Amino acid sequence: ASQRVPKLKRHDELSDLGEMFNEMLDRMQRYIEQQSQFVEDVSHELRTPVAIIQGHMEMLNRWGKDDPKILAESLSASLKETKRMQDLVQEMLDLSRAEQVEINFRDEKTDVDEVVHQVFNNFQMIHPDFTFVLDDDLKEKVIVPIYRDHFEQVLIILCDNAVKYSTKRKEIHISLSRTLNEVEVGVQDFGEGISQADMNKVFNRFYRVDKARSRKKGGNGLGLSIAKRLVEGYHGDITLESSAGYGSLFRITLPVIDADVKSLDD
Ligand code: ADP
Repeated sequence: ASQRVPKLKRHDELSDLGEMFNEMLDRMQRYIEQQSQFVEDVSHELRTPVAIIQGHMEMLNRWGKDDPKILAESLSASLKETKRMQDLVQEMLDLSRAEQVEINFRDEKTDVDEVVHQVFNNFQMIHPDFTFVLDDDLKEKVIVPIYRDHFEQVLIILCDNAVKYSTKRKEIHISLSRTLNEVEVGVQDFGEGISQADMNKVFNRFYRVDKARSRKKGGNGLGLSIAKRLVEGYHGDITLESSAGYGSLFRITLPVIDADVKSLDD
């Protein structure tokens, strides 16, 4: 804080420059704090799987390796934790890349309908116990300026969650509609829902409403933060309507690339 420019008792270019400098300093400070918080969160997340694997290895090393049952159990638990760490590393990479979309994916064009239908079909195939309903209101082809894999990734994150957090009523509605400048994709489930108090927090990295339960389902608490960064990186928005016990509705809006004049003419 000592490096800040003292407030000048004058209103000219110099005092403006001083304020600009202070703002930059604040921003840098916040960035540094966020980065160290991230490193702390990641270390915390990695500690559990590492501790579990270590526990099993120590047990095997002392006496368990001659007991086929313990050996099988420990190996399977360790493999599961290894997989979790692998997922965590991948998700952290995704999160970090999501922050750079504006620089690296400027001129992408993706057909909304095509991707939504594909994700819809895949989910219906992978989860035959669920009913998926697609409400497609699009009258014509809609192109959005987003890298295809990123759009698909966002949809997969939302649909995966809808499946993970619907234990009783196994029904998921995907909707597609557009306004003049935007396209909207909705993913609605009728599962456990999210309370008012948790609604803003679920987009924070590593936040889970019920840590133990989410962990059991393989969740790391990064899915929604990746989805949010991606969508916002493409100048879109992601919102949530939910109520505990009644399900959730996630809505993504993305800007639409103007339809070419020719197709409007005919
Ligand atoms: P996770 O890997 O834990 O699913 P996410 O970032 O995708 O991480 O979601 C964060 C938390 O938000 C989840 O742990 C869960 O508590 C809650 N959540 C996300 N989607 C839903 C949903 N469709 N229904 C109920 N809760 C949800």
